[in-house]
Amino acid sequence: MLEACSKLGEDLLKMFLDEIEADIIIEVDGKKIKAHRCILSSRAKYFANLLRANKPDKNTSTISLEGFSYPAVHFALCHIYSGAMNIPKDCNISELALLADMLNLETLTAVIVFHLKMHYCHFFHRPCLQCSQGVVECLPLATVCGLNELRDRCIYWLGKNFTRTWPNKSFALLSEELRDLCYNVTFHNLAINTVIDMTLNCDRLLTTLPQLKWTEPIFGMITRLLQDCIHFMAKNFNQILNSEGFLALGKLECYCIEEDIISAIELMTPDVACKSYESVTQLIQLTDTVENTEYAEFTQNFVDLLHKISRHSERYLIQNANKVVHCQSWACLAPQVQKRIKDAAVIVFEFEKPTALHLVCPVYKEN
Ligand SMILES: [Zn+2]
Repeated sequence: MLEACSKLGEDLLKMFLDEIEADIIIEVDGKKIKAHRCILSSRAKYFANLLRANKPDKNTSTISLEGFSYPAVHFALCHIYSGAMNIPKDCNISELALLADMLNLETLTAVIVFHLKMHYCHFFHRPCLQCSQGVVECLPLATVCGLNELRDRCIYWLGKNFTRTWPNKSFALLSEELRDLCYNVTFHNLAINTVIDMTLNCDRLLTTLPQLKWTEPIFGMITRLLQDCIHFMAKNFNQILNSEGFLALGKLECYCIEEDIISAIELMTPDVACKSYESVTQLIQLTDTVENTEYAEFTQNFVDLLHKISRHSERYLIQNANKVVHCQSWACLAPQVQKRIKDAAVIVFEFEKPTALHLVCPVYKEN
């Protein structure tokens, strides 16, 4: 049952449904709907333009709306007369959106957007089974019909909730362009506090996602995201070591992020490497000495991970000693650490002399 938005709307709707003094026919899908020129012209620009152009044959006018179905056109007309907002179940929402766009009917577009947000997007709450599908359905529709605000919200939500929304067939079937826009949102959510969690999620998805034809683009996106996470870690490793996101690993029993962290260590700059080595050394000292604090509650796994990071960072410093000793943060390292790295570097470079000679290693000169 259609509901008019006011008593006036109710009366006008009755006038439409009872065909009182109708003076124009709208033809759709082989059916005829009687309507009123003055109402159509005053409510919808599309009809106003059309009827202005067709003035001469005033008495016989028929407007044909090809390509649309009867339920969509009938509801659009009910809305024009009464402001009705309750879209009937037999009305295809995509078709109605296209019709509203063609008719240039802003109030109907607003009704459709509200309907989509409520029934398809669940007002963008935390993703449930239905809306992770519904938002994906909304996105191309919003794009085609120029519903930009809805489109942007869909993209933002799909990017933000990538762990729940990407591993779905309907998401995989979106155009590459739309998937890329979602990816950009996810990428922009990369931050010191989120990178560890995002890396863990990427690893989890890569191991749990089934190897099927439709998952191929999703594997591609997650692999790309994981690489971006690793590069982000490499750039900011010292800050990440002290972040809540990283320290939260200390409470987890099981995770597989080691390989990613080691890949990030290999991509660090000398400056970040010096600072990171300092940070991890301090963390290890805290776990060794402090009792009955949050640091004492770290799992053995995490303590082992810290030691592994320390070893790999030290190896990086030694292998890149010729650059490391000239970087700004070299001075942050304790003199005994500096000496240990220089001594080890000499051994490494002596050992690798034939290939290392052209590097003109400053460590040689100083010793
Ligand atoms: Zn939901």
